[in-house]
Amino acid sequence: MRVFKFGGASVKDANGIKNVYDVLQQVGFDDVLLVVSAMGKTTNALEVVIKNYFEKSAELQSSIQDVKKYHNQILLDLFEDDKNAVFAAINQLFSDLEGFLKSNKSPNYNFVYDQIVSFGEMISTTIISHYFNFRGLKNQWLDVRNFIKTDTTYRDAIVDWEQTQKLISKNVKKKVLNITQGFLGSDENNFTTTLGREGSDYTAAIFAYCLNAESVTIWKDVPGVMNADPRYFENATLLNQISYREAIELAFYGATVIHPKTLQPLQRKEIPLFVKSFLNPSLPGTSVSKGADLEPHLPCFIVKKEQLLISLSSIDFSFIMEENISEIFGLLHHYKMKVSLIQNSAISFSVCIEDKFGNFSDLKNVLSKKFKVSYNENVSLYTIRHFNEKAAEMVEKGKQVLLKQVSRETMQIVTKETTN
Ligand code: ADP
Ligand code: ASP
Ligand code: MG
Repeated sequence: MRVFKFGGASVKDANGIKNVYDVLQQVGFDDVLLVVSAMGKTTNALEVVIKNYFEKSAELQSSIQDVKKYHNQILLDLFEDDKNAVFAAINQLFSDLEGFLKSNKSPNYNFVYDQIVSFGEMISTTIISHYFNFRGLKNQWLDVRNFIKTDTTYRDAIVDWEQTQKLISKNVKKKVLNITQGFLGSDENNFTTTLGREGSDYTAAIFAYCLNAESVTIWKDVPGVMNADPRYFENATLLNQISYREAIELAFYGATVIHPKTLQPLQRKEIPLFVKSFLNPSLPGTSVSKGADLEPHLPCFIVKKEQLLISLSSIDFSFIMEENISEIFGLLHHYKMKVSLIQNSAISFSVCIEDKFGNFSDLKNVLSKKFKVSYNENVSLYTIRHFNEKAAEMVEKGKQVLLKQVSRETMQIVTKETTN
């Protein structure tokens, strides 16, 4: 089997969905399991709904309406009239969403988040499955929550591989076009969980691993994996081939074109990952597989914006020792900070972190009791794999360098943009 993943950008409007249909016609679909994300920026829009719900905001209803209207327009553009069963199916999903919010008693933000945000993928796959049927393309819609089982870490759930393997082996039919949701799973009580933002690539890898798939293709709005994000770097060049190891490094340092958790299950079974353009499906794109590290061999640039650089030193002029460091890491973990870089010297300890869950001011208060805390907000972390002097110069140009770290293959530079 082949596993395909289409992300939000590929299904952001009716034309996008028609294009997915065309891609399947072009590359074949009999042996395909299709993993689809929420349409366009739906997940962000549902995050607004959740925020409004918890803040008891007067905007709650209108934020739900925004999501409804967006999908309704797509339905009207896709189907000739509103008699198709899909209209009732989508209405039902929205009334389930509103029903949940009305009856919910849980104060657990992360739990509620997963129950609500999952409607994005439920809606997108329902629309696409109906649209394919409408075009005469038979398919099997699967509720991924019956296949991917996880623990109860809502918003960042950990997969129970044993159970997931059993369910997928037993229940996925192989010779049909299957359509299912990315990003979602369910816990032991069958409540919805999510695998972390942008987690649909990972879903594709989970299915591929459990199905011993022939390959995974993630269809993107770029020609493949490039040596830099073309949004931020001019002259980004397509990489034809990269090794699993290189792809893991790039994703780990923040190349958002592949979700970092995607690669290890594929590497374990040597299942190739193709990253291809959904606009030009016949082009080869990038192959991530065993083989050449990086072809062509170029410096690769990764930028993470909106990072925090924190430096800690002791209040009593003592050294920052193992004991302090372990306590600091305990706190970073507790406040769910993603650590992107660490540097320590005799008297200070610096970390570059990403505050995904908005916990920095709480963390700062706790740290300030023990350490002198200084920090820069809104810094950028540049990582250059296979760096050379020219590459470093290019990154540093016009910026204030706050910290720099070099290892054999990787240079990392924390900068503050200087306005001129
Ligand atoms: P999806 O629709 O699957 O969620 P994403 O938007 O998450 O797709 O990923 C595609 C985007 O990743 C591209 O539009 C591009 O801006 C960005 N990107 C970041 N790093 C790279 C890279 N090294 N090569 C190609 N694209 C990259
Ligand atoms: N819809 C989810 C998100 O936007 C998952 C994904 O797109 O991969 O984070
Ligand atoms: Mg995405």
